[in-house]
Amino acid sequence: MDNRAIHHAADLIEDADALVVAAGAGMGIDSGLPDFRGPGGFWSAYPALGRRGLEFYEVASPRTFDTDPALAWGFYGHRLALYRHTTPHEGFGILKGWGERMFQGSRVFTSNVDGQFQRAGFSEDAITECHGSIHHLQCSRPCCGDVWLAANFVPSVDDETCTLVNDAPTCRGCGAMARPNIMMFGDSEWIDRRSNGQEAGLRRWLDKATRIVVIELGAGTAIPSVRHFSHELLVNYGARLVRINPKEPAVPTQMDVSIASPALAALRAIESMTLRA
Ligand SMILES: [Zn+2]
Repeated sequence: MDNRAIHHAADLIEDADALVVAAGAGMGIDSGLPDFRGPGGFWSAYPALGRRGLEFYEVASPRTFDTDPALAWGFYGHRLALYRHTTPHEGFGILKGWGERMFQGSRVFTSNVDGQFQRAGFSEDAITECHGSIHHLQCSRPCCGDVWLAANFVPSVDDETCTLVNDAPTCRGCGAMARPNIMMFGDSEWIDRRSNGQEAGLRRWLDKATRIVVIELGAGTAIPSVRHFSHELLVNYGARLVRINPKEPAVPTQMDVSIASPALAALRAIESMTLRA
């Protein structure tokens, strides 16, 4: 790892009053969560879907809840159970500690739907989930704008076929099937009210924040929501950026820091530098 970049990142964190953690799919890999990208990535995580030749974008689609609900809920039920039982890696705690040492604290902006920041102890009102959360449900039709916790639903999934074997959750309003409150592929039915409310709170915090450092982790260019957000903070809020990404680490200016590394290794390296200071 580039020692100068690690030093520079530690300096930016030391000088900052406010921390924004901007996290994409790469953040979860060190917790043992599968990365669906790359050739065969999705099918090695879900062999039953590979045998049927089904791609990620076909399964993660609101239409699949109409055409093959047992399969759609088999996939999402498996993920829901997986995320409920995952322990967030140590990097989450490192970030939380940095935020607690800053005058204005920290906020999280993530495209991950897995709820791992909440599990790591970040407070619910400090998190914006721009693609929604698998731990929340909405009506599949949808008949209304309600979003509710999935806590009462315990999926039972046959891993051989990737199908749900117990009853899918239903909408409290109309009795139709409920689905995860996640933005899927080609999804015009996602209810974004919860996500928009989170972002409005984040904007109010940003408007008062000074000397912001953004630590962006595992956010690629393929689904660019998180990168767009980081860049907007540089332009509109004068923030500085630490980008941690093993494959796409380039940063916009020399004032920003590029670290070509998985999330946890980079966070540990920076942490050891800040402790020494
Ligand atoms: Zn409904």
